[in-house]
Amino acid sequence: MPIYEYQCKDCQHTFETLVFQNDHNPVCCPYCNSDKVTRLMSASSVFSSTSLGRCAAPAGGGFS
Ligand SMILES: [Zn+2]
Repeated sequence: MPIYEYQCKDCQHTFETLVFQNDHNPVCCPYCNSDKVTRLMSASSVFSSTSLGRCAAPAGGGFS
């Protein structure tokens, strides 16, 4: 069962929830019960793209 991370657009609360393949009910914020939630990208994919961007900076030698 995959666990997805969501963020509520109304209160900015982030939460994780199990998503069942046969469950088509909308995900609601457990904090304010709003259904205006967005699914966040996984932390690992966000981190890797950020790291790639920073790797473009000049590196190696020249400092001493
Ligand atoms: Zn909320």
